[in-house]
Amino acid sequence: MEKILIAKNVVKYYQVKASNYSEEKKILKAVDGVSLELSKGETLGIVGESGCGKSTLGKTLLRLHNITAGKVIFKDKNIYDLNHKDLTNLRQQMQMIFQDPFSSLNPRRNIFSTLAQPFKIHTKLTKSEINLKIDSLLKRVGLNPGYKNRYPHQFSGGQRQRIGIARAIALNPELVVCDEAVSALDVSIQAQIINLLMDLQEELNLTYIFIAHDLSVVEFISDRIIVMYLGRIVESASKDELINNRLHPYTKALYEASPGIDPKNRKKDNVILGDVPSPINPPSGCYFQTRCKFKTERCEKEYPPLYDVGNNHKVACFLYEKKAIKHES
Ligand code: ADP
Ligand code: MG
Repeated sequence: MEKILIAKNVVKYYQVKASNYSEEKKILKAVDGVSLELSKGETLGIVGESGCGKSTLGKTLLRLHNITAGKVIFKDKNIYDLNHKDLTNLRQQMQMIFQDPFSSLNPRRNIFSTLAQPFKIHTKLTKSEINLKIDSLLKRVGLNPGYKNRYPHQFSGGQRQRIGIARAIALNPELVVCDEAVSALDVSIQAQIINLLMDLQEELNLTYIFIAHDLSVVEFISDRIIVMYLGRIVESASKDELINNRLHPYTKALYEASPGIDPKNRKKDNVILGDVPSPINPPSGCYFQTRCKFKTERCEKEYPPLYDVGNNHKVACFLYEKKAIKHES
């Protein structure tokens, strides 16, 4: 299948103040060597607790900020090598949907004005042509076109997310990054928005990167899944493979923490305690060792490579060293 996006060893570091009281600068490794590939029309899920670098990775893949190291190839071109004109072009092809459309929708603009913006910037359509486009966009996302003179505060959370989706698909993008796009919504509304995203994917042949902290939601919508911990991939597999065979202790714990799963199926021994350590000062060895009940002395010293355990399933944990058919360091 055609690869639409290839990321190689993507690194994104931030310089941050060591504390509120000092001017000393520290390096925060938000994304630290992530490689991935995306085929046209598929959905890649990215899951991990808050602070694991998911949003930073999403933004880096769309060049919404600079990259520290690594490459992002979109349709055969490194997006960090593009000139201004090509970058403007790229902006139409790659879009992002955020968790909270309330903060990404301008409260002083009505919906018509918000949705007209991309057409004004990127096309030469007349006002009446734009008007028709907006009516069909609103219908497509399940909103009444008669609402277009209303303001963001006059809509519910689910409706605002529909507006965010309409804005993202306005210019027929190829790739859409959905960053916690349903995380703030009630479960029933979540399902409606996920169904809308899946319908639009079929209709418009969209490729998605679906970011969320809830593994059961990610497993539902994705074709393949990447599990991130402190800026790195700890497990990756197809959806079916992962559902049947979650390997990394962190992935198992994420699943147990998922609000969507039946409490009867919850295994208490997979629950992890404590918070994600700071990416400014990650633990020695395996980053997960401070919270892992399988940890050995080796885990405190060495960071495990990504073992390929077959069926395109990779996991960064020494528990699977013997099962590995090969590994990447
Ligand atoms: P996630 O989306 O998985 O919650 P983020 O990508 O938002 O994670 O954040 C990863 C890490 O990078 C966090 O420790 C966060 O505090 C830090 N971070 C994110 N954006 C910035 C920034 N602009 N400046 C400094 N640190 C940041
Ligand atoms: Mg985030």
